[in-house]
Amino acid sequence: MAIDPVCGMIVKRDKAAAHRMYKGRRYYFCVPWCAELFDADPEKFHLASMTKKEIDPVCGMTVKKTDKAAIRKMYNGRTYYFCAPGCRDVFDTDPEKYLGRATEPPKNKSLWAKLLRRS
Ligand SMILES: [Zn+2]
Ligand SMILES: [Zn+2]
Repeated sequence: MAIDPVCGMIVKRDKAAAHRMYKGRRYYFCVPWCAELFDADPEKFHLASMTKKEIDPVCGMTVKKTDKAAIRKMYNGRTYYFCAPGCRDVFDTDPEKYLGRATEPPKNKSLWAKLLRRS
C-alpha cells in the first residue's frame, strides 16, 4: 500500500495507474492525472508527503498525524485526523459532507484538466 501524494488516497502498488521516482522515493498514483499534477510541481508534493501533516476535514486546520483514537477516524479506507474530539464527532454525523473539503480528487475529469492547464 502507498499513499497517492496528490490526492491522499491509498493505492495498491500493483494496481497504481502511474508511478514516479522522485529524489529516491517512489510515488504511486490512483489515476494518471494525479501523476500529471505531480509532474507539474513534484517538489511541492514531495515536501507535503515528507511533513506528516493532515488537514482536519471539518474545520480545515492543519493537524499532526496521531495515534490517539479520539481524534482520528478511519473512513472509506483513509484515516482522517482532527484537531479535537469535537471535530471528530461532527465528522461522524455526516462524513460525506466533509469529505469534499478533504484531499479527494474532483470526480469531474474535465474540471481537473482545467486546473492542470491553469498551473
Ligand atoms: Zn490520486
Ligand atoms: Zn477541527
